[in-house]
Amino acid sequence: MSLYKRVTCAKGGTCNTKGPNATCTKCGERPDGGAWWYRFRFGGRIIHESSRSQSLTIAREAEKLRRRQLEEQWNRIEKKKLPPTFEQASAGWLSRRAALKGSTRETYEHALKHLKAFFGKGLISDIDARDVAAYQKARTATNAAGASALARSDPPVLV
Ligand SMILES: [Zn+2]
Repeated sequence: MSLYKRVTCAKGGTCNTKGPNATCTKCGERPDGGAWWYRFRFGGRIIHESSRSQSLTIAREAEKLRRRQLEEQWNRIEKKKLPPTFEQASAGWLSRRAALKGSTRETYEHALKHLKAFFGKGLISDIDARDVAAYQKARTATNAAGASALARSDPPVLV
C-alpha cells in the first residue's frame, strides 16, 4: 500500500524528485501540485489509480474506500459460486409447485419446517445419505407423523 504524488512534467511523463533539493532531473523544477495516487495489490493484481485529490487525508480515504469496494465485489462473486443452502433450495422447490392444493401444500410446508430446522443452514451439496438417516432417526424418536415419509424422499429431489 503506497501513496505518492504524481505531477505531469513539462518534459513529458511525470516529474521525479531525484535531482538536488528534490527537484525533477528532467525539467529542473520541484514537483508542485498534482494529485495523490494510490497503489496496492488486490486479488493478485495491482490497483494503481489517482485519488484525484491533492489532499493526503482525502487520498487515504479514497484508497480505503476503493479497497472496501473491491472486497465487497469479491465477496459477492464468491457467494454466488456457492451452492444453495437447504433453506434456499427448499424455498425454491416449493415456489415451483404453485399448483399444489392447500392441504398438500400445508403438509409439505410442515415437513419442510422440520427439515429446515435440521438442515437449514447447511449447503445442499454437503447433505449426504448419513445426514438423511440421522434426520429420520431423530424424527422417529420424536414421533413425527406423516411428515417423515416425505423426509425419506425429499432431500435428494430438492436440487
Ligand atoms: Zn519534471
